[in-house]
This record gives sequence, C-alpha cells and structure tokens, in this order.
Amino acid sequence: MTCPYLEYRRSDGDQEFDHERPYCGVTEEFVSPMKADICNDRFQFDHESDCELYKDHVERLAEEPVADDD
Ligand code: SF4
Repeated sequence: MTCPYLEYRRSDGDQEFDHERPYCGVTEEFVSPMKADICNDRFQFDHESDCELYKDHVERLAEEPVADDD
C-alpha cells in the first residue's frame, strides 16, 4: 500500500512543473523519484513500520487532544 502522505504535485506556490513531482505531506517537501518508489512500498518497504517520519507523525496525531464541540 502506498503511503497516504505521498502525493504528486504539478506546482509549488508560484512555480509550475512540466510533470508531477512526488511530495511527502509529513515533511512538506518534495522527494526524489527514487525515494517515492520506496514510499510506494517497493522493495518490501512498509511505510507503517519502516518509515520513522510516518511513525512519528501518526504518534503525534494520536496524542493530540480530540476537539470538544461543547
Ligand atoms: S517519507 Fe515516509 S511519510 Fe513521507 S511519503 Fe515517504 S513513506 Fe510517507
């Protein structure tokens, strides 16, 4: 399964690209196509257990207090 934080963008602010570039939503940075291959869980990579960035991000989200609408 592809990492849910991997996306492809054709622009970055004012800058437009000729083709889509891989972008990590956790680090909020573009990643190399080679890195994106790995984020797509190639080569037996499992983002949930092998990516420290993913794990830290998910842990932080779990620790955030749930919004109280009362
Ligand atoms: S670096 Fe980690 S969190 Fe970012 S897209 Fe790749 S697998 Fe996902």
